Amino acid sequence: MTYSEKINLFIKTKTDDPKAFIRVFGCQQNEADAEKICGFVLKSGFRFVECEQESDLIIFVTCAVRHTAQNKIFGHIGRLKKIKEINPNVFIVIFGCMAEQKEICEKIRLHYKFIDLVIGSKSIDAFPKLLCEEITGENYNICEKIPEEMPVKRKSNFKAWVSIISGCNNFCSYCVVPFVRGQEKSRSASEILNEINHLVKKGYKDITLLGQNVNSYEDGKICFSDLILEINKIKGDFFLNFMTSHPKNMNKEIIDALAESPHFGGRFHLPVQSGSNRILKLMNRNYTKQKYLEIINYARLKIPYLTITSDLIVGFPGELREDFEETLDLIKLAKFSSIFTFIYSKRKGTVAEKMPDLTPHSEKISRFNELANIQNSISEKIFTKEIGKKHKILIESCQDNMALCRTGGGVIVKIKGKYSELLGTFAECKITSAQRSFLWGNLI
Ligand code: SAH
Ligand code: SF4
Repeated sequence: MTYSEKINLFIKTKTDDPKAFIRVFGCQQNEADAEKICGFVLKSGFRFVECEQESDLIIFVTCAVRHTAQNKIFGHIGRLKKIKEINPNVFIVIFGCMAEQKEICEKIRLHYKFIDLVIGSKSIDAFPKLLCEEITGENYNICEKIPEEMPVKRKSNFKAWVSIISGCNNFCSYCVVPFVRGQEKSRSASEILNEINHLVKKGYKDITLLGQNVNSYEDGKICFSDLILEINKIKGDFFLNFMTSHPKNMNKEIIDALAESPHFGGRFHLPVQSGSNRILKLMNRNYTKQKYLEIINYARLKIPYLTITSDLIVGFPGELREDFEETLDLIKLAKFSSIFTFIYSKRKGTVAEKMPDLTPHSEKISRFNELANIQNSISEKIFTKEIGKKHKILIESCQDNMALCRTGGGVIVKIKGKYSELLGTFAECKITSAQRSFLWGNLI
C-alpha cells in the first residue's frame, strides 16, 4: 500500500469529504513544488478548497529569501492559531525554505505549537512519508517519492513549469538559497524531454524551464545549450522560456541555440544585482558590468525580439553613492523592459551578514525610489516603441470585457472584448497603445 492510499483510508474514517488548502509564497520554484505537493494531496483523497476555515489540511509553502517575506508569512501563520482552536482536528503543515532554517524551526516549535508538521524544501522527497505519519499517527517505510514518481497537479492546462535543476552552488554573499535549497542537482535530460513532449501533446502552449540557475544545467552528458537544441527538435506550437539564469553562465552557445529555436519566446530574465564591479565582487557574482553588457548585446544581436528583465539589490553592505551611480548607468545602457528591485536584507549564515552596513535605511529607500523612477521612464520608452507592431500572444485569462495575454517575451497585452472561447490559445495582435508595465492591443 502506498502512503497516499494509507492517508486516504485513514482520512475517510474521519470525514466523507476531506478538504485541503494550500498557500504559496515566493518564487516559481515554490509554485512548482506546490504543484507536486498538490498532486500527492489529491491522490491521498483530498479536494482543494479556497478557504482555510473549511479545510482538514492546511499547507503553507514558504520563502526565506528576504526578511520582509518571512515576516509576512509569520503573520499568516499566526492567524492559523484561531482556526486550530475552532477545529483542533485540522493538520497544519509548514513546508519550504523557511522550514530549512534551524532558528525558524525552533521559533515554530516554541511559539507556534499549533503547527503539526514542519518540512524543509530539501526534504520534498520525504513529504508523503512525513504527512502520512502525521495524519495516521503510525510509522511506515514505503518507497513512494515526490518529485519524479508523483503526479503533478498543474494549476493551468496550458502553462507549465518544468524543473530542470534544483539547488544552487553559487553562494552569492547575500543569498540564503544555497543553504535552504542545497546543492545543484540536474534532472536527466531524457526525463525532461519526455515531460515536455508529453505536455506539448496535451496541448500546453507555454513551457518554462525552472531552476535557481538553469544555465549551469549539466546532467553528466549534456549541458544547457545542448538541452535547448534537443527541445528545439520537438514538434508543436509552444513558447519556451526559462528562469532564472546567471550572467556568469550565460554564453554564446546558449544564445545561438535559442536564436535558432522555433519555440523560444524571447524572454531573458538575467539578474544583474548591481552595476558596480566593486559590489559585484563583494556579492561573489563572478562577472563585471562590462561582461554583463557584452553578453546582452550579443544576445540582442542574435535575437532581435528579445525582452530582457533583471533583478537588482540596492543598499548592499558598503554600497556607496558612486557604486549606486554605476547601477544607474548600467540600467540606462542595458535598457531592461522591467526590473525587480529589492532593498538588501541581511540573512543569517551568509557571508554578507558579517559585512559592515553603515548606509542608513532612509538612504536605501531613496536609492530604491530613484532607481524605480529612472527604470519607469526607460520601460515607458521601450513599450511606446511597440505601438503599431504585431505580436503572437497567448490568451491567459479572460475577464468580463477584456482578455489578459502575454507575448513570448512575457509582456502583458490587454485586449478589450469577450474572448473566453480563445482562452489558452495563441492569437495575433497589433499593439495600439502602451503603459509603463503593459500594452494595449487588438486581435488581428
Ligand atoms: N536564483 C536566482 C534568484 C534568487 S532569489 C538568481 O540567482 O538570480 C531572487 C532575487 O532575490 C535575487 O535575484 C535577488 O535580487 C533577490 N535577493 C536574494 N537575496 C536577497 C537579499 N538577501 N536581500 C535582498 N534581495 C535578495
Ligand atoms: Fe542566490 Fe546567487 Fe544562487 Fe541566485 S545564484 S539563488 S542569488 S546564491
